[in-house]
Amino acid sequence: MAALDASLPALRTKPKAIFFTDFDGTITLQDSNDWLTDNLGFGVELRRQGNKDVLHNGRPFRRAFQEMLDSVTKPFDQCLQLLLENVKLDPAFKEFAAWCRENNVPIVVLSGGMQPIIRALLAHLVGEEEAAVMQIVSNDVKPRPGKSINDENGWDIQYHDESPFGHDKSLQIRPYAALQDRPVMFYAGDGVSDLSAAKETDLLFAKAGRDLVTYCEKENIPFTVFNDFSDIHKVVADVVGGKISVQQAATGTK
Ligand SMILES: [Mg+2]
Repeated sequence: MAALDASLPALRTKPKAIFFTDFDGTITLQDSNDWLTDNLGFGVELRRQGNKDVLHNGRPFRRAFQEMLDSVTKPFDQCLQLLLENVKLDPAFKEFAAWCRENNVPIVVLSGGMQPIIRALLAHLVGEEEAAVMQIVSNDVKPRPGKSINDENGWDIQYHDESPFGHDKSLQIRPYAALQDRPVMFYAGDGVSDLSAAKETDLLFAKAGRDLVTYCEKENIPFTVFNDFSDIHKVVADVVGGKISVQQAATGTK
C-alpha cells in the first residue's frame, strides 16, 4: 500500500471513503464555462445544442467544449473577475467539505474546467484553507501563439489528456477502483463533462434535472439524485457511518 501513495494521493490518510466530484454546476450553482459562453460567447442556444449533440448524437465532448470556449474572446483576467462576481457556491457545500475534513474523507475535484478559474473560485467561495486541502485535477489555460492570456482572444484551453473528453475523469478514478482493499468511492456531477466518470464509482450522485440524470437513465447506470449538498451529506454520512450500504443509497430519481 505504501508504494502506491505517491500516485494515489487520496489514500495518504487511509480513508474509509473518497469523494470524487465535478466542480462546475456541482459544487457551484452556475457552470463557469457555460456562464462565459452564454454571456460573453456564442450564447445559450448554441451551447445547449452542443450539449445535446454530445448526449444524443455521440459528438465528442472535447469538440463541443472547444467551440464554446473559442467563442469567448475576452481577456482571461476579465473573464476570471466576472466569474468571481457571478458564480455562487452550492449552499451546503461548505459544511459538507468541513465534515469531510473532520471525518477523513478526501475530496478530489475532477473537472473539465480550467485550473486557475477553479482555484480562484474555490478560494473565494470556501476559503483559502479549505480549498488548499482539496486535490484538483482539471484542464488548464494556455496562451494562444504570440499572445498573453490577458490579451483579447489571447487564451485557449490546455487539455488534461488526449481523450475525446479533454479530461477523461475515469483515468483518475480507476487506479483506486482497482485496489483490492479500498475505500468506498463516491462521485457527484451534473452534466456532459461527467460522462467519463459516471460508471466508475460505488455511488454516483447526479444533480436533479440536469443532463447527467438523462444520461444515467438512458444508459441504465445506477445513481441517486441530489438537489444540493445537504442531500449528498446525509447519504455520505450514513454510508461512512455504516447505517446504509451504497446499494441501498442508489435510488435513482426516487
Ligand atoms: Mg458540471
